[in-house]
Order: sequence, then C-alpha cells, then structure tokens
Amino acid sequence: MGDNGAKPSRSTTERVDRRALMKAGAALLASTAVGMARPAVAQRGPVRTLLKGGVVLSFDPAVGDFEKADILIEDKKIVALRPDISAEAVVIDASRMIVLPGFIDTHHHFYQSALRNLLPNGVLTDYFRDISGAATNHYRPEDAYMGNLIGALRSLDAGITTITDLSQVSNTPEHSDALIKGLTDSGIRAIYAYSRGSGAGAKWPGDVERLQKQYFSSTDQLVTLALGTAVNKDQWLLARRFGLRIFTHVVGGNRGLGPEDVMKLGDEGLMGPDNVYIHFTNATNDQMRRIKDTGGWLSIACPIEMAMRHGMSPIQQALDAGIRPSLSSDVETTMAADMFTQMRSVFILQRALLNDRSIKGEKDLPPLLSARDVIEFATLQGARADGMEAKVGTLTPGKEADIVMLRTDLPNTLPFNSAYGAITTAMDTSNVDTVIIAGKVVKRAGKLLGVDLDRMGREAAASRDYLVGKLGWPRSVIDTSLSGH
Ligand SMILES: [Zn+2]
Repeated sequence: MGDNGAKPSRSTTERVDRRALMKAGAALLASTAVGMARPAVAQRGPVRTLLKGGVVLSFDPAVGDFEKADILIEDKKIVALRPDISAEAVVIDASRMIVLPGFIDTHHHFYQSALRNLLPNGVLTDYFRDISGAATNHYRPEDAYMGNLIGALRSLDAGITTITDLSQVSNTPEHSDALIKGLTDSGIRAIYAYSRGSGAGAKWPGDVERLQKQYFSSTDQLVTLALGTAVNKDQWLLARRFGLRIFTHVVGGNRGLGPEDVMKLGDEGLMGPDNVYIHFTNATNDQMRRIKDTGGWLSIACPIEMAMRHGMSPIQQALDAGIRPSLSSDVETTMAADMFTQMRSVFILQRALLNDRSIKGEKDLPPLLSARDVIEFATLQGARADGMEAKVGTLTPGKEADIVMLRTDLPNTLPFNSAYGAITTAMDTSNVDTVIIAGKVVKRAGKLLGVDLDRMGREAAASRDYLVGKLGWPRSVIDTSLSGH
C-alpha cells in the first residue's frame, strides 16, 4: 500500500509480510467507493470526490474559510474549493462536518506502539533505562514492522495524515526495511527519518544510500526519506550529501544534546533551513533566535516535555523569537499521540504562563494563543517544518488532498457554535469521521477502511508478549511495581 514502487528485500518481506494487511491496503485503495453513492457516470478517467456542504477551514489566506462550501478532489489533488460546486463525482456529505487539512505530527517513534501506555509515570531516566536502553535491543524486524503499522493506523484514525517517524531501532538493515514497510502498508503519508539502532548489526547512518536507492528513488510518493541525527557535524553533512531533511532531538541539560551544542555547529555555518529541532528545551532566548535566523524549524512535543522532564516546553520562547512551531507527539509509551492532546496542551500551557505573568502585574504581555493558532501549528506549520508546504498543509486547489472531516453533531459539540473553538477546546478523536490522504479515503463514518482491528490487536499483542517476556516485565495490566510504569 502507498505509492512506494520499490520492493523491500525478499528476506524481510517473507518475515514481516501480512497477507491480510496487503488485502487491507487493496481495500483502502478501493475505499472511495465504500459507503458512498457511485458517480452518476462511472467511466474511465480521473476519480472525482466531492465533499459537499461542510464548514471549511482552509488555512490558506488566499482561499479563506467558509461557513459552507464544497471541495472537489480529482485523483490525488484538490481541484476546486468554493460554495455550490456541481460535478460528476462520488459525493460525501459534509454538512455536519468541519473540513480542514489533515493533522501533521512532526516527530514520533512509531516502533514502540506495541508498548504504548506502559510508562505512564516515567521521566526521561526511566525511558532511557527501559525503552531506548533495554526494550529496543530486543526488537526483531517483525516487531519494528508491527509497531510502525499500528502506530500509523492509530494516527490515521486520529486524523493525522502526515507523520515523521524517527524509529530509533535500526538494529540491522532488515529492521529499517521493516519500518519502511510498516509505513507504506498503512497508507499514511510519512517521512521516514532514518534513525539509530543498537547492537552489533546496526549500520546507521551508513545504510542511507541503499535505503534511498531501494525505496526513495522518487520524491513524489507517500513515504519519503529524511535523517534522524544526533547533534553531530558528520551526520548533518551526510544528510545534506543525500539531500535529506535533518531531524534532531535537542534537550538542554543532557551532555552533547543541548542547544549550546547546536550553536557550535551553527558557528561553523551548519544550521540551515533543512534543520528541524525537536524539543529545544532549556535554551536561551539567543539560542532560540538562532533557529529563526538560520531558517530552521521547531517541533514541540508539549505534553511529553512537561511530563518527562525535558524542561519547560519552549512555546513562549519560540513565539518571542518569531517562530510558529509545529507540534509532535513523541512517545506513546507515555502520552496519547493524537493532535487534540497536542493542541490543547500547548494552548493551555502558553495561556497559563502568560496569565500568571498578568496576575503578577506584568504589562505589555505578548498575545495569548488563540484556538486557531494551535490548529495552524498542527497543520500548516507541520507541513512547513517537514518541507512539504507545496504539497500539503492547507486546503488549496493544486495541492494534494490530505483532508480530515470532524463531526460537529456529537454530544461534545452540540449545539455547534464555533469551528475553531470546537476543535481546540471540545473535540477528541471520536469526532474524526473521515480521513483522506492524497485523494484516497482511508477512514469513513468513523471507521478505518479495510483494517481488521481484531487481527491487528492479536498480532500487536503477540509482539508485545515477546518483548515484555524478553524484558522480564510483569504481564499484569494493573502492576505498577516498576519505576515509571
Ligand atoms: Zn523523540
């Protein structure tokens, strides 16, 4: 599934292939015809889908927002957006929906999905001990595959249409193959940010040339390649040699990982517009401004930063520096990975910080974030950080149709009074009705299309059982005896 024409190596294919999931992929491909009226004239030619009568938030100032408008999709692309479009097309009723660009999550570690929620009380030291320092070593390629697949499906289900996956489990080249296959089988749009692994078989980053040749010969495909790096000159230069975007965790207070280490590379002229800095906590204002001055991008994982002791999430510092951040979910071992959680967290935190300053008498404060601001962070700013603004991030004719439709007729939003307000302050994943990626409907009427959840759950549980068994962790779902668990 997905647009990647290249095939993974045969050995990996045999080990991780899931016949049912390939069928699921085929069903996704066919899904524009599921549960909808057929076009009046079904002939060969472009597939047209018409989203009819929704509240449309385009996030493109040249297009604007509409209380009621239609969107015409032809094959992969949006071709028209205005009220009262007539066209021969599959019609999807959007009359009780908010229609907006799909959410974009600029940093996640999908491979851990079979371990989701296992470290709810963990801080970074617990995570380094148990996840990156222990669990990761035991991953087989099939665990990497399953983690990426169910992670991607969860994101699709939540209305996330583009993900940057930094699965730091490239323990062998076969692991990397499996991670890429998990993404392509899911049907999500993804940047596979090839990241480190552990053990003697790890080839990162040296396998990048093979991966690029084997899987990423075209940039016009759903899954594309980037490099997940340390704060490291050689790795940044390597990424640039292959024309890859650079995603780097920066957590102040950790040796070699702090903003001050990034500044040293900046002093050598190495900070640029292809750098995406993740977290960037415990920075000075000058260090944050350097990101802006060099055209770089920021990915804030606000709930994780607050919960896991990365340092205060730098939302206000970023805004003060003129940076509109993208949002990201990070690790599902410890926090929900939907964008409602991300948007609400950053909205509340920024306002709490400024409200506190106001109460204490400070004048001339920066503006409070609005409900619209944080939705823009979760859509357009994500596309910009990922270098994909020309393709996605707004509802603009000519761009690819990555679209989410949110129900407004559920108890959490009745009566429907404010589009931005409902999304930011009221909605959750239960409102995600329809998800479209590159013109293909992958979720409709609240259900992922062509996905056998029972089977998926069984296979994910088998992967989890294998990993937890290797780790000797308690099998109980109520045991909290381990630190952070
Ligand atoms: Zn991370």
